[in-house]
Amino acid sequence: MATDTPPTGRDDPLYPRARQSVLFRRDPGIAALQRALRIGYQHARQLRAAMRGDILDWDEQGQHWRITDGACAGPDLLLQDKLAQAADWISNAHSMVVAAGAGMGIDSGLPDFRGEEGFWRAYPALAQARLPFESIASPRAFQERPATAWGFYGHRLKLYRATAPHAGFGILHGWSQRMAQGSFVFTSNVDGHFQKAGFTPARVYECHGTIHRLQCSANCTGSLWGTAGLRPQVDEASCQWQGPLPLCPHCGALARPNILMFEDWHWNHERSDQQRALLDRWLDQSPAPLVLEIGASNAIATVRHFTRRLQQRGSKLIRINPHEANIHNPQAIELALGARQALEGIAARLQGRDLSSHPGRPTP
Ligand SMILES: [Zn+2]
Repeated sequence: MATDTPPTGRDDPLYPRARQSVLFRRDPGIAALQRALRIGYQHARQLRAAMRGDILDWDEQGQHWRITDGACAGPDLLLQDKLAQAADWISNAHSMVVAAGAGMGIDSGLPDFRGEEGFWRAYPALAQARLPFESIASPRAFQERPATAWGFYGHRLKLYRATAPHAGFGILHGWSQRMAQGSFVFTSNVDGHFQKAGFTPARVYECHGTIHRLQCSANCTGSLWGTAGLRPQVDEASCQWQGPLPLCPHCGALARPNILMFEDWHWNHERSDQQRALLDRWLDQSPAPLVLEIGASNAIATVRHFTRRLQQRGSKLIRINPHEANIHNPQAIELALGARQALEGIAARLQGRDLSSHPGRPTP
């Protein structure tokens, strides 16, 4: 018998990885644990026994092990390791893609439209009218109740203009400036906050458009124009636009934000297509950038599809999402944290390290 018998139970140094490996694979089998951690049968059996009452149950009737409800919501025992590993990846990266969803904006104080409750809390007048997000964020709303549709988007425009992007944006911008090939942003947010935080507009792809450009509701000439001259007056209690509604300067039809809405057949995607072409060209020169996916939900899958494609091309992935299972994914780093907290946590571990000493970094 070996003299260095492995420690047993939850004080085993392998316990955190074993636990999160079970959560990632959704498989409490001993064979799966042995394969994942490259350990023997007895050791795997001891580790699994220690998980009983933590993330596993022993079902006496069915006589099998099962993962308890809510197991993924518990503390991430690997969090400190993961933050350190993320810092390593960032400090060694030559280029980076920031793939952002709605979760990126929440820490700046922007409303979360996740679920009807969150949306209606932000817009009580729309709650009273029983108008869900999908109904007001649609070309049909501009046809049927233009003052309400413009009340909603006018209020958002004011809010996005008045809100400062949170510290996480500046952290990302600082990292990308130190990388040899810089960064590209892929965002489903329409708030323009990456540009506001200093990211070069030519390096931002807004896949759902932007609130800072307008288009004709009939898309008559296919042109877009800026919102600089627009000063929204909105009665917040009723969510109604006050005064004359913005009109198309070409044909006089109602104007609307250049945002991809629900059931939207007239969205002008020309600008967004051009941004996408710039992204594809950049990707040709930076074949496997490090991907930081931040606050992208599974519900709106555009951002997730994109990061999956980059992973298939060989990119490493750091996923930041407080709503995701807290798991040990050997192919990626999954941080079950909010955007700002995760970025500040990584930044704290990078302090004192010289990110700027990359070989091949162009002289400023
Ligand atoms: Zn028009």
